[in-house]
Order: sequence, then C-alpha cells, then structure tokens
Amino acid sequence: PISATDQIEPCRICVCVRKRPLNNKEINRKEIDVVSVPGKGALLVHEPKQKVDLTKYLDNQIFHFDYSFDETTTNDLVYKFTAKPLVQSIFDGCMATCFAYGQTGSGKTHTMGGDFTGRQQNSAKGIYALSAQDVFVCLNHRKYSNLDLSVYVSFFEIYNGKVYDLLNKKAKLRVLEDDRQQVQVVGLEEVYVTTPEEVIKMIQAGSACRTSGQTSVNANSSRSHAVLQIVLRRNDRATTLHGKFSLVDLAGNERGTDVSSNDRSTLVETAEINRSLLALKECIRSLGKNSDHIPFRMSTLTKVLRDSFIGEKSRTCMIAMVSPGMASCEYTMNTLRYADRVK
Ligand code: ADP
Ligand code: MG
Repeated sequence: PISATDQIEPCRICVCVRKRPLNNKEINRKEIDVVSVPGKGALLVHEPKQKVDLTKYLDNQIFHFDYSFDETTTNDLVYKFTAKPLVQSIFDGCMATCFAYGQTGSGKTHTMGGDFTGRQQNSAKGIYALSAQDVFVCLNHRKYSNLDLSVYVSFFEIYNGKVYDLLNKKAKLRVLEDDRQQVQVVGLEEVYVTTPEEVIKMIQAGSACRTSGQTSVNANSSRSHAVLQIVLRRNDRATTLHGKFSLVDLAGNERGTDVSSNDRSTLVETAEINRSLLALKECIRSLGKNSDHIPFRMSTLTKVLRDSFIGEKSRTCMIAMVSPGMASCEYTMNTLRYADRVK
C-alpha cells in the first residue's frame, strides 16, 4: 500500500481506487473480504463463484491504477495523492476536477468529507476541507502573491439532469451554452470567501440543504451528483477567471438494480445517472486522447464541467471507491471496470 513517503507523480489524468474497511453490519453477517491491495497501484478481487483462496491467483482479477488505497489508508493520505496536486494546479491556471465514484455506501462522501450528520467521522478531515485549507496556504504563498487572486465558492447538485443551487435554497438553475460553446449556469451563487472555515460553513449549509427533502425534489442524496467548486478570480475589473477546482461526489453507480421496480421515476433517475456516468467516462477518455471532440453535451454533468475537459490546462483525478464485502462483489467489479476504462 501507499505510504506518506511515496513519490507523487503529477499527471493530467489520475485514476485511483480506495477500499473501505468492512463495516459492523458486514462483520456481523460474517461477510468475507474479497478485495485486497497487493501493491502500490494494484487491486485484487476474488469472485465469489470461486472458492476464496488467496494462494490461488488463477481465478482472481487484478486491476492496475495510478494508486490503490487499502482500508488502513487515511483521508489525509488519499488527499495527498489525489486532490492536493490539483489545488496547486489551479494557481497555475488549471481547470481541475476530482471525482468520487462508486456504489452507494462505498465511501464517496466519507472521502470527500461531505457527511455532516456527524455520526461516524470528523467531516472536517475530508478532501473538501483539506483542499480548502491548502487553497488559502497557496493564496498566501510568496510564489503566488503577485497574482492578486480572490477565492469564491459554489455548491450545487445535479439531479435528473437539473441543476439546484445548494447555496441558494435549492433554486433550480438553467444551463446555457453560447455560440462560442461557453457553458454557464445562470444565476449560480458564487460566494466570496477569505478563510477555510468559511468554506466549511458553506459546505455544511449546502449539505444540510441537500438532504432536507422539503421539496419533492430529491430526498435521496445518493441519486444526485454534488459539485463543490473553488474558483480563483483575479482582482481586476472583470474579476477574470484564473483557475477552478470542481470536487464532485457522484451519484451511486449501482445501475440496473432498480430495473425490476415499477416506479417510473426511479427508472428515469437510474437512466439519467447511467447516462451522465457514461458521458463522464467518454469526456475523460477524450481528454486523455487529446481529442478535439469532447462529447460534453451528452449530460448536464459534463456540460457544466465542460471547461475542465478542454485543453492543456485540464487536470482530472478519479477516485473509485469499493466496498470489500462478498455481497458487493458485482458492484465492485462494475466500478473497477469503469475506472479501468477511464484512462
Ligand atoms: P457513499 O457516499 O459512497 O454512499 P459513505 O461515504 O456515506 O458512502 O460511506 C458509507 C459508510 O461507510 C459511512 O458510515 C462511512 O463513514 C463509512 N466509511 C466509508 N469509507 C470509510 C473508510 N475509508 N473508513 C471508515 N469508514 C468508512
Ligand atoms: Mg454519499
């Protein structure tokens, strides 16, 4: 597994995988852990149809990523290898994205630090908070002091292809594209912030807004994408965009599980999630191939992130989360196959 002293390799597209520990429920059910991390970027899955035997590699599936994090890895360490280089990149004018991908319950929100129910963990120690801290460290660094930058925060949710502003009472917003293919979320709240604590407060308020199902819209947050954006603007008259970091807690990828459901709205939800995750994969792949054609119009998610898929200044990191239990094996394999095809 990764250790704090390992070298960080800067790259335009980074794909890694994180395994969470078995939880109490799984332990009580005596679930077998079918995932192991045998090397720095490797991840091994034992399919349940085979007898679980760690010494026989014949029927095991091994995957290779830029980094693989086992169940003992802390958020701090995950942050260091994933989002931290991206925070630095936006000061150099990059458009960066970091995605948490995986089935519901695999640890996406735990990793991002967007869980403010406060039962399990200290949310202040997720990628959101750690990034916010480092943004202000960089802002005050000598190297960037001549840039004269200000920091702004946006936080919104994409549900069923619609954008809802989490910093403005879930106002439903329109996404417009002009004739120069510039995409704009009309009326999106962008709050000026001066300390990491202010950013955390925004996330906290936005997260509360996200899960409160007062409206008919989206009571279940696992069915929506949450997008936190940290925006750097120059203090000129036009407050010109300098760099942007989008941190995305994606909707659960458990596709097809609801297909048996007769509930039409659930089917629509599932179809929309599948479509946006497929679009995301295609956009990152195009970026990797330096292709001129980025299929960003395929979904609202990729539309609003369009700037991040284009050009030399794009940086992307995907963290694929997996549950270790045998019962999750099929989802785990889906997640790993997806992540494997992104790069
Ligand atoms: P998701 O957002 O993918 O649906 P969560 O982040 O809510 O999943 O995680 C589900 C549960 O597992 C939570 O209670 C969370 O605290 C716990 N969990 C997830 N990842 C880890 C981890 N790496 N270490 C310890 N607990 C974790
Ligand atoms: Mg979640």
